[in-house]
Amino acid sequence: MRLKSLEIVGFKSFSKKTALEFGVAISAVVGPNGSGKSNIAEAVRFVLGEQSFKSMRGKRGEDFIFSGSQNTGRRNQAKITITFDNTDRAFNLDFDEVILSREVFRDSSNQYCINNSQVRLKDIIELLSSVHIGASSHHIISQGEADRILSVSPKERKEMIEDALGLKIYHWKINESEKKLIKTSENLKEVELLRREIAPHLKYLKKQIEKIERTRSLRDELAKLYKEYLQRENIYLQLNKTRVSRDTQLLQKEAEQLKEELSTLNTVAPRAVSENALLDEASVFQKQLYTTREKKNELLREIGKIEGMMEYEKREREKNQENKNSNTDTDLRVEIYEVEKFIKNLEKIIQVPDSAPYEDLKLVLEKIRNSITIFYQTHKGEKDQEPDKDQTAPSIDLQKEYHILQQAFADIIEQEKQLIEKNQTTQLVIEKNKNEARDTERILYEKKAQLSIVETKIETLQNEEVRYHEEAEEFETEIREGLVIVGSQIKEFHQYVIDEQAVLMEDRKEQENRRRQISVLKIRIENLSGGVGEETLKEYDDTKERDEFLAKEITDLEMSAQSLQKIITDLQKQLNEDFTSGITNINKQFQNFFSLMFGGGQASLFVTTDTKNKKSKNGQENEFLKELDTEDEDKKTGIDVSVSLPLKKIKGLVALSGGERALTSIALLFALSQVNPPPFMILDETDAALDEANSRKYGDMLENLSKFSQLIVITHNRETMSRAGILYGVTMDASASSTLLSVKFEEAEKIVK
Ligand code: ATP
Repeated sequence: MRLKSLEIVGFKSFSKKTALEFGVAISAVVGPNGSGKSNIAEAVRFVLGEQSFKSMRGKRGEDFIFSGSQNTGRRNQAKITITFDNTDRAFNLDFDEVILSREVFRDSSNQYCINNSQVRLKDIIELLSSVHIGASSHHIISQGEADRILSVSPKERKEMIEDALGLKIYHWKINESEKKLIKTSENLKEVELLRREIAPHLKYLKKQIEKIERTRSLRDELAKLYKEYLQRENIYLQLNKTRVSRDTQLLQKEAEQLKEELSTLNTVAPRAVSENALLDEASVFQKQLYTTREKKNELLREIGKIEGMMEYEKREREKNQENKNSNTDTDLRVEIYEVEKFIKNLEKIIQVPDSAPYEDLKLVLEKIRNSITIFYQTHKGEKDQEPDKDQTAPSIDLQKEYHILQQAFADIIEQEKQLIEKNQTTQLVIEKNKNEARDTERILYEKKAQLSIVETKIETLQNEEVRYHEEAEEFETEIREGLVIVGSQIKEFHQYVIDEQAVLMEDRKEQENRRRQISVLKIRIENLSGGVGEETLKEYDDTKERDEFLAKEITDLEMSAQSLQKIITDLQKQLNEDFTSGITNINKQFQNFFSLMFGGGQASLFVTTDTKNKKSKNGQENEFLKELDTEDEDKKTGIDVSVSLPLKKIKGLVALSGGERALTSIALLFALSQVNPPPFMILDETDAALDEANSRKYGDMLENLSKFSQLIVITHNRETMSRAGILYGVTMDASASSTLLSVKFEEAEKIVK
């Protein structure tokens, strides 16, 4: 990087556009007093962003604008442009030339540009600090300012030296970091305060959320239970309803069938009528039999009467027989025959089955039969004696009548027999019918009983149906209640997988238990009164998120503070190291230059301590900054100068003559420039107080310095002029405006004179 040129328009005494080229190592500006030489040095300060008007001998912005003269009007603005060669890219800008300009207007406003682009002052300062130059740096030594390095306080001197060593950037960085640290610390306090403020609310919300979460968990449990309960209930009701409906249908069919059967069986009832007819018929037969038997008895009586009459005749004849000795055997035989026949008939009658109603008659007949049998047995032997038929035979008429009666009796017996048979047949039919009727009746009763059972079952099923219907309504109510407390997920109970048979097999008490558990959970949820709490949940999430954000912010800020603290510590350390090594190097050069100037002697810088200055720059007791107030920092608060002239006993600056003081300050300034050479230096009449011999030494040092830094010297000194590669002569023209011209050495001398 190299200083190429300077252009001045309207600045102080330079009303016209004036340009200086700095193509050589040493450029000198010469001219009579008051011609405007120092204005050039100030123009450089000005364009480099100097803010101290005092250092440029002004009070306000318009003091730097050409104020005019008797012949020339004033200007309304002043503009300085300085051009640097940047082919080495010392400035971190991708331009071969870096052109800085500053304009000042009468209203004291300023305008800065870098390569014709308007920028802020800050941009100019940052750009220049990157190459260790600045408006107030030691590389611009104003008129009478050379001595300043000796006359300032140790603290100011330290700052000047640090600036010269290029350590100002550390201070600037430390300062920036400290500002950031303070800001960070303030932010940290604010954030901690904010976090403390929301903490109770967050705690409250957390409790609410815990309640909500407990409620939610209970609600989930309830939903699970509800789903199982509802699905079981659903299956139970569906299956039972289906069963009841199916069974009812089947039973109704069965009932219909039974009714049909009963109806069919009832049609058999008319048979009773025919049964009555049969009974009537039997009754007729009985009557006929009775009549027949009456007739038979009549006949028997008739026969008996005839037999009596015949017996009488017989006896009469026997009497006659006795008389006639004749027997009546024949009559007895007939008698026996008839008795036997009669007995047989009686036996037939007696043997009639089911003759209960005639039991008395039978007994009478039995007795008759026995009597006859006995009679017969008694008289049988007599018959066997074969009596004389002729003697015992009855009359023909009686015999005839007897035969007729016998015949009639035989007929009536036959008639009776037929009637008995008919009666028996009728009785059998009646009996059979009775049996059949009994069977039918039995079946009828059975069917009726079955129907009654079936109807009872149907009734039971219908009762069941009513119950299931009521339970189904209850079930719907339960779903609605579930919806209110658990939400729509309750509707998903169908998804609950369970074996249908297992549901049917299960004891209903289990469902009762589940229902009870549901009630218990509902009560617990209601007692928690955690509600759905969507808003609370959101508020909690937001607050928690904010708390976490603040916590993270605190961590970040603490880390940032730590990192800044480390940066500051590192910078401080680096500063201390560079400062210590810089002082050592300066002292070497200072000693060299001092010896050169004074032909011996001792000169050095030393660090002084100022224990009063313990507070940070911002005067705040910052906990992070406290650590920076190291013991070293406290001690190294200033720099003092120690000189010891050769051959003289006097020591210390106060004892030096004006020239000695000037030489000492030059030695120190040059030592500083030697250790950390600035890109350029402007020395405004630094050599003013030097005698000829010292001027030569000064000239030598200039040449030596110019190897490292471009030099612009403003001088009246011939020796100094002789070392310059280019000489600019400044004169004040008739219009009180400075005029610049490049001159040769000889001309320069003339100009000066
Ligand atoms: P010396 O050799 O005595 O130090 P010099 O050459 O350095 O003198 P300067 O100090 O640069 O002279 O210039 C001072 C001159 O500039 C004064 O004459 C002063 O009137 C003039 N000057 C200062 N400010 C203005 C201004 N705003 N307008 C016009 N002229 C000004």
